[in-house]
Amino acid sequence: MQLKMKNYMEEIVLHTMEEILPDINVCQCERCKFDIAAKALNDLPPKYVVTPKGEVYSKINNLRSQFEVDIISAITKAAILVKRNPSHDEHGVEKEKTLY
Ligand SMILES: [Zn+2]
Repeated sequence: MQLKMKNYMEEIVLHTMEEILPDINVCQCERCKFDIAAKALNDLPPKYVVTPKGEVYSKINNLRSQFEVDIISAITKAAILVKRNPSHDEHGVEKEKTLY
């Protein structure tokens, strides 16, 4: 059996972002989404698990309700930060990398 190490928090953050970002007036390009995810994940505790490859994460909903308030708050904070200081200018040109 092939095993894989996985940060559940990453799955939950990416999934939750899809639900709440449309309600926040922030750029939805791939770069901004990844910036928001990276910043939010830096603020949240990692939840690593070892799982067989391809397994459906039945624990996600469990963890999700446990951390929902923290996750939504971390994503919202990250989105505001990225909105104020996006990694690209208004023409979509990449700016010099800023570290959050
Ligand atoms: Zn963008």
